[in-house]
Amino acid sequence: MLKECIFCQIIAGDTPCRKVYEDDEVLVFHDIQPAAPVHALIIPKTHIASMNDVGREQEGIIAAIHRAAQITAIELGIAETGYRLVNNCGPDAGQVVHHLHYHLLGGKKLGMTQ
Ligand code: 5GP
Ligand code: ZN
Repeated sequence: MLKECIFCQIIAGDTPCRKVYEDDEVLVFHDIQPAAPVHALIIPKTHIASMNDVGREQEGIIAAIHRAAQITAIELGIAETGYRLVNNCGPDAGQVVHHLHYHLLGGKKLGMTQ
C-alpha cells in the first residue's frame, strides 16, 4: 500500500469505485472516464509501479489479471463481441497512474490507436 497512490486508496476502500470483480490478487472496477462503452481497469492488490517492475515473482499476478479479464468480459457482456486488454507503460504510452493496471475495452469496434 502506497499512501499517495490513488489505486492503493481504492483497494483500501478509502476512495470509492464501481467494483466489477475482486479476488485475493486483483480488483476490477469501471474507469472513471470511459474511453469505450465498456472500460474496466484491472489492478493487482499489491503496489507495482509499472510493467517495468514485473519480474518472475509477479508471474502469478499476471496470470490472475488475465483470468480476471476473462471473467470481467463475460460479466460485462463482451466476451463474444470482443475486447482489448491494454497496459500503458511510461510517458510515451500516457501512463498517468503509477500502479500497474490493464484497461479492458469493448462494446464497440475499436480503432488500433485507442
Ligand atoms: P493510464 O493512462 O495511467 O493508463 O490510465 C489511468 C486510468 O485511470 C485512466 O483511464 C483514468 O480515467 C483512470 N482513473 C484515474 N483515477 C481514477 C479514479 O479515481 N477512479 C477510477 N475509477 N478511475 C480512475
Ligand atoms: Zn498503488
